Amino acid sequence: MIEVSKKCIGCSKCVPVCPFAAVSMSDKKAVMNEACTLCGACVQVCPVQAITITREEASARDLTGYKGVWVYVELSETDGGGAAKAGPRKIRKVVLELLSAGRRLADELGEDLCAVLLTDKNHSYEKELGPYGADKIYMVEHDELFEYNTDIFSTVIVSLVNRHKPSVILYGASIQGRDLAPRVASTLYVGLTADCTALAIKDGLLLQSRPAFGGNIMADILSPNSRPQMATVRPNVMKINEPVHGRSALVVRETAKLDRSLRRVKVLERSMAGDTGTVRIESADIIVSGGRGMKSKERFKQLEELSGLLGGVVGASRAAVDLGFKEKHHQVGQSGTTVSPKLYLAFGISGAVQHIVGMKASDVIVAVNKDPNAPIFNVARYGIVGDAHEIVPKLIEALKGK
Ligand SMILES: Cc1cc2nc3c(=O)[nH]c(=O)nc-3n(C[C@H](O)[C@H](O)[C@H](O)COP(=O)(O)OP(=O)(O)OC[C@H]3O[C@@H](n4cnc5c(N)ncnc54)[C@H](O)[C@@H]3O)c2cc1C
Repeated sequence: MIEVSKKCIGCSKCVPVCPFAAVSMSDKKAVMNEACTLCGACVQVCPVQAITITREEASARDLTGYKGVWVYVELSETDGGGAAKAGPRKIRKVVLELLSAGRRLADELGEDLCAVLLTDKNHSYEKELGPYGADKIYMVEHDELFEYNTDIFSTVIVSLVNRHKPSVILYGASIQGRDLAPRVASTLYVGLTADCTALAIKDGLLLQSRPAFGGNIMADILSPNSRPQMATVRPNVMKINEPVHGRSALVVRETAKLDRSLRRVKVLERSMAGDTGTVRIESADIIVSGGRGMKSKERFKQLEELSGLLGGVVGASRAAVDLGFKEKHHQVGQSGTTVSPKLYLAFGISGAVQHIVGMKASDVIVAVNKDPNAPIFNVARYGIVGDAHEIVPKLIEALKGK
């Protein structure tokens, strides 16, 4: 329920920000009509906190009308070097991972899998989303959706949820997903499980699994009393299904009246930390990683030479990062980046659970360690018990053809 209290000063700031033209002024007081979706845009701009939304107790809600598994379609925002993209933005890989996972969940629930696409201009995105499993695409096209903005995007998602009542929404645990999902969750007053690494259906509910207590246990989380059940999912954890060519999705065009004044944050400049112009670790096919066993920054540099010869990217354990061998954005693992390259080489890495959780989805893992009992050998396809300081130079020589 939405209410306007006596505190209302009749400033009318809430009128233009309503995406659904649900607010008007009467006797110098804001009034809401039946088009209101409780999205909360008016609450955010009210300078005197005169507007309040009271939400029903979760357990008292009728949840039977909530159907469908939704996947938020994140589009790439930058060219990787930090500049905003000029041409068509691309669908990020994590979306295809979520569609693949979502397809399995939707089939199990007997519900539709829907992609939610917010864009200034459609560049035939449906041609990609259909083959990867989407039955339906809720698409909102608007000039204000030219780049990601928390206020604008969360307002649109909340209004779509209030209109269509999905039972599940999945977001990538990317910078954007980690920003958007909590805002949507707090506006809708529902739960959110962050950084999931596995999803399943249990008794008709979404079973959300994520590492807890420093990665030593997996926590299984259910949201029985609220809808939609929402989760962010780590990139590079879910396998992408083969696309079914010729499979198409129904495009449902949705409208939103968006006002620029809703945008409280303006992006003045973008800059990316790290190696501009090089392949980023999360999308690399080959990763040459080193740990504390590399012993020094100088020795770690040999891994850079090796990865250069293989056409790969250097990764690091947290211990190696803490010792200053490599920058933080090269860290693989629970508090770093989750990766799934075709080839992962691990030199002098013990294989702590927090490291393994970030690289175990790699196609082929090769580990080099002095200790034959190092846990890294439990996940490695090929293991070499030996001294990395002898083996790395030999590999470099071999690749140089000496
Ligand atoms: C909340 C939390 C989050 C964390 N997140 C991460 C994370 O994201 N990523 C991460 O990596 N860790 C993370 N950690 C830390 C993790 O628990 C380990 O401490 C860390 O992964 C160990 O790094 P390491 O394998 O390089 O070092 P060590 O465990 O010290 O292992 C070094 C290995 O090198 C081998 N070695 C030594 N010399 C040689 C040689 N000459 N040749 C070959 N092998 C040699 C040794 O036998 C040993 O196995 C996290 C911990 C916590 C509590």
